[in-house]
Order: sequence, then C-alpha cells, then structure tokens
Amino acid sequence: MDPRATARARSWTQIPAPPMFMNHRAPANGRYKPTCYEHAANCYTHASLIVPAMVGSALLHRLSDDSWEKVTAWVYGTGLCALFIVSTAFHIVSWKKSHLRTVEHCFHMCDRMVIYFFIAASYAPWLNLRELGPLASHMRWFIWLMAAGGTIYVFLYHEKYKVIELFFYLTMGFSPALVVTSMNNTDGLHELACGGLIYCLGVVFFKSDGIIPFAHAIWHLFVATAAAVHYYAIWKYLYRSPTDFMRHL
Ligand SMILES: [Zn+2]
Repeated sequence: MDPRATARARSWTQIPAPPMFMNHRAPANGRYKPTCYEHAANCYTHASLIVPAMVGSALLHRLSDDSWEKVTAWVYGTGLCALFIVSTAFHIVSWKKSHLRTVEHCFHMCDRMVIYFFIAASYAPWLNLRELGPLASHMRWFIWLMAAGGTIYVFLYHEKYKVIELFFYLTMGFSPALVVTSMNNTDGLHELACGGLIYCLGVVFFKSDGIIPFAHAIWHLFVATAAAVHYYAIWKYLYRSPTDFMRHL
C-alpha cells in the first residue's frame, strides 16, 4: 500500500471530522466557533423573544397600581428586553461580522454585562414590592452594586478566568434569594426557586459547546423558560390580576 495513503488514513482516524452541526471544542481560554447552523439557532432562539418580552413588560406597567410599581415594571421590563436584544445583537455580529474583531469583542462584553443587570432586574420586583426587614431591605441597592461590580470585572478580565466569571453569576443569582426567602409573604417563592433551578440546569449546556450540538441555543431555551417562569410569578403574585383590572375599566 502507498505509504502516503496509509499516513492519510491514519491522520483521518486520529482527527475525526466534527459532526455536521457542531465544531470541535475550543482550546483552554479560546472561544468555541459555532457552525452556521448553531449561529442561526443562537440568533433565532433569543430574537423570537424580544417582542413577547416587550409586550409582557408593557402589561406589567398597565397592571401597576402606583408609581413605585410602575418604576419597578420599567426596571424589570428593561432588564428583560435588554437581555434578549443584546444577546441577539451579539450573536448576529458574531455570525455575520466576526471579521470585525473589536466590534465583536465589544458586543461579547455587552452580552456578558447584561446578564448581571438582568439578574438584578429579575429580583427587583420581589425586593421592591414586598415587605422586607431593615437589614434585608439593603439588598434593594446592594444587588445593583453587585451588577456594577460584575460589569467592571467584565471590562477588566473578559474571558480570562471563565470559572471565576461563572462563580460570580451564580453568587449574584443566589445571594438575593437568601433575603427573598426570609420574607413573611412567601407566595410565589416556589416559582422563583423553580426558575432558579432551570437556570442552573441550563449552565450544563452553557459549558457544553463542542460536546453537545446546539449547546448554546439549548442554553438560550433554558434562559427563556426560566425567565418565563419568573415573569409568571411576578405577574401573578406582585401585580394586580388582569381580571381585576378589566373589572375596574
Ligand atoms: Zn448567547
């Protein structure tokens, strides 16, 4: 047998071609390069939620009884919409304009920063609209301080220490829960915990690029499901019910 053909055959067996829908894993401290199918799925999974997020935010605003509820609906709605808009913008740039390295890098940083503000915004209705003890009430501003700290971290160390970044997200996601669970009124906390659990399960896919095809798009679906569960709880337990609202029209 031709030795060159043997060498070629060996190299084929040693470096198997990646499956059609997935590329090889990224090297340590490198970034995974999605296939075009994965890029498309990453864009569509979050783009399709921009309008529902806007409608949902407007609905909460309409159901507000006073200006504090209105402000809270704005804050939460802005965080919710920003998450899907910024994520979609980043994934479009990453797919279509990846040659513009600096632009893509900026969008990637924004995609990571918005997660900190989204976590703060998701807790805002619970912290703002429920009775809290004197110590626990400090979490209302402290959570925004944590979001600002996360933003500074992304500026300084973006993609350098991925495990630390994940640790920060989880810390910020769980620490306000300690305050929220200490509230006298516990209505809606099961839904809040359920949403948190869905986010945590989704992290498995967030870390599985190159192992599971479409892992990042699946992570997006977990984010969407958890955000929907949290929205449902906020809508049901913290704002006036729509039937009540209709009756008073
Ligand atoms: Zn994403």
